[in-house]
Amino acid sequence: MRKFIFVALVSVGLASCFDSQTAANANDAEKKNKTCNIVNVPVFNQDSAFDYVKKQCDFGPRVPNSASHEKCLGFLAGELSRLGGSVSLQKADLKGYDGTIYKSTNIIAAFYPERNNRIVLFAHWDSRPVSDQEDGTKKTALQKPVMGANDGASGVAVLLEAARNFAAQDPGLGIDIVLFDAEDCGAPHWEQSKVENDWCLGSQFWSNNTGYSLSNKPRLGILLDMVGGPNPSFCIDAVSGYYAPNYAGDFWKVASGLGFGSFFKNVAGGQIVDDHYYVNTIAGIPTFDVIDFDTQRGFPEMWHTQHDDVEHIDRNTLGAVGRVLLRYVYTDCAK
Ligand SMILES: [Zn+2]
Repeated sequence: MRKFIFVALVSVGLASCFDSQTAANANDAEKKNKTCNIVNVPVFNQDSAFDYVKKQCDFGPRVPNSASHEKCLGFLAGELSRLGGSVSLQKADLKGYDGTIYKSTNIIAAFYPERNNRIVLFAHWDSRPVSDQEDGTKKTALQKPVMGANDGASGVAVLLEAARNFAAQDPGLGIDIVLFDAEDCGAPHWEQSKVENDWCLGSQFWSNNTGYSLSNKPRLGILLDMVGGPNPSFCIDAVSGYYAPNYAGDFWKVASGLGFGSFFKNVAGGQIVDDHYYVNTIAGIPTFDVIDFDTQRGFPEMWHTQHDDVEHIDRNTLGAVGRVLLRYVYTDCAK
């Protein structure tokens, strides 16, 4: 993900954002009369989620075309299958900013695949090939891959731990988990990209090839990205606020109700492009992003540096996001 401005939203989106907000407010007013029955929400195990972060990082940076990437693919596909998902691998050769072809695999796991009432949960499982947010004087560090404990592995870990619960306790709807590849291969800031849309390659491919029919297309999507850092700042970014304002609003309300209002801030999160941009604009599935970014601080300090490692993961953050996610999914208002 990156903080490149989503120009289209700047030019046409502002007025529309106000319209969306008005619609969201009207919808919220309606919902005040609706009771959301909380059915037995399973307990999210943050220690298990932390172990899933560590297991991914034990392979090393999962940079596309590397041996670590290939090994981690086997682990993730095997684990999702073991947890009860119907796993399929969507393979594609995707062209990067400098013409490199990335042998990419989106990992897809369907839970309760026979159900047409579905939602879809996303994260990216690849790691960034360069640490281009390192101090510019550290030339060697700049060229090293990012471990991606937070940037990538944390979202995957929360979804794996959630998956364990989906299989053990019926959420009452179908759930797809899609782990995107090649999200983080965009041009370093010192390079000019030779292709348009050089980030989020896996999600662009998936969005053009979802394989859903009209009847089983998910109603909403949730993307988790950088959900394991200390003192996170989760705000509703412009793309989420434009395409999925009500779903995002409900999610943030659930977070506040669980006492996580200091992590999930009820303010606009600014303009970023992440996988959800392509899911919204190409696949047409209303999708919001839970991402550690705010307009004052930007991305977390460790972002795209050599310090995005397991030592800088806070299991309480994983736990907070996991608890909100399970509460949201298992609340019948989400259906
Ligand atoms: Zn990244």
